[in-house]
Amino acid sequence: MNFPYELVLLLPAAFALGWWASRRAGANRSGAEVSELSSDYFRGLNYLLNEEQDKAIEVFLKLAEYNRDTVETHLALGNLFRRRGEVDRAIRLHQHLVSRPGLSGAMKTVALLELGEDYMRAGLLDRAEALFADLVAMDAHAPSALHHLIAIYQHERDWHKAIEHARRLEVMTGEDETPMIAQFFCELADRAHQHGASAEAGDYLRKAFECQADCVRAFMLTARLQSEEGRHAEAVEAYEAAINADIAFTPEILPPLLNSYARSQQMERAEIFLRDMLGRYHGISPVLALANLYRQRDGERAAIDFLTSQLRQRPSVRGLMALIDATMDKAEGEVRENFLILRDLTRKLLEGQAMYRCSRCGFGAKAHHWQCPSCKSWSTIRPIHGVASE
Ligand SMILES: [Zn+2]
Repeated sequence: MNFPYELVLLLPAAFALGWWASRRAGANRSGAEVSELSSDYFRGLNYLLNEEQDKAIEVFLKLAEYNRDTVETHLALGNLFRRRGEVDRAIRLHQHLVSRPGLSGAMKTVALLELGEDYMRAGLLDRAEALFADLVAMDAHAPSALHHLIAIYQHERDWHKAIEHARRLEVMTGEDETPMIAQFFCELADRAHQHGASAEAGDYLRKAFECQADCVRAFMLTARLQSEEGRHAEAVEAYEAAINADIAFTPEILPPLLNSYARSQQMERAEIFLRDMLGRYHGISPVLALANLYRQRDGERAAIDFLTSQLRQRPSVRGLMALIDATMDKAEGEVRENFLILRDLTRKLLEGQAMYRCSRCGFGAKAHHWQCPSCKSWSTIRPIHGVASE
């Protein structure tokens, strides 16, 4: 059975409810009622586990009606409403819970945390922010509230506040959030660069490196700034450092790096670096770059020989296309026509392919994103390696 993880989160509340229901029923009610109540509860749980949420809600509503003071049932229900997209119902339920007299402080803060998540889902970010800030100030569920606040500031692209709260989270939990904070500084650097403030961008990049000395994105941005200022030799250093920091980003880094090699007339260095990469990287990008280099330096024949030998070791549609392109120039008549058809077919094979995938949630994308649009993790979207991709 597929076991959705949100349901696992509901289980403690559901089990607590079952325990409570059976204990209470045992104390106050007859045997018949005990079995009715617990069979209802287990029926509801069963629906939950089978993702039959409509039926689960029906059963749990009945249980909540029967035991008006069962906070856990309400929490489980509210959570279900929110996950089904019935945010208004979830908000009403949690607001009702929060305003209930006699609710314990601990349960009240749980309900507030849930209400904050409802507001977030409803897009009422101001209300959610105020609520989570209150919880942090009360030191109640502060790590969860801080996580939500950081998510809100990321959504609003308020990177300064995101950094401030990530640092508070680090102090509170002792966990290392520096790779995420480095990304926030890179966002600030990127924004400054877009506004033409390169000195400011440089300052943010230094802060990104202070957080994470091997931050690939900070190396790439540094190289881009240097290359735009005509400092191509320095850009080569920074781009090479980026590849050495995380070789998985090679398809992103290689095109501007090749440009910087050419601009700084360091083609020998380029060949040495690319040759070295062949041993430690299994994608096709460095092969294509080397083939191009050999074509320009030694002619088409050398490029074709190199490509053929490499394609045997790493089959790749993009490599095949480069080989077709190289061979086609020499072909004539019917053979050339066939090559054109082949090239068309291989291009169609590559079209529509997701080139990147999130290593956290599996989200597929055609373009690279530093933050996964789906699960919001940073630096988890990576080029896909395989015959039809990198
Ligand atoms: Zn993701």
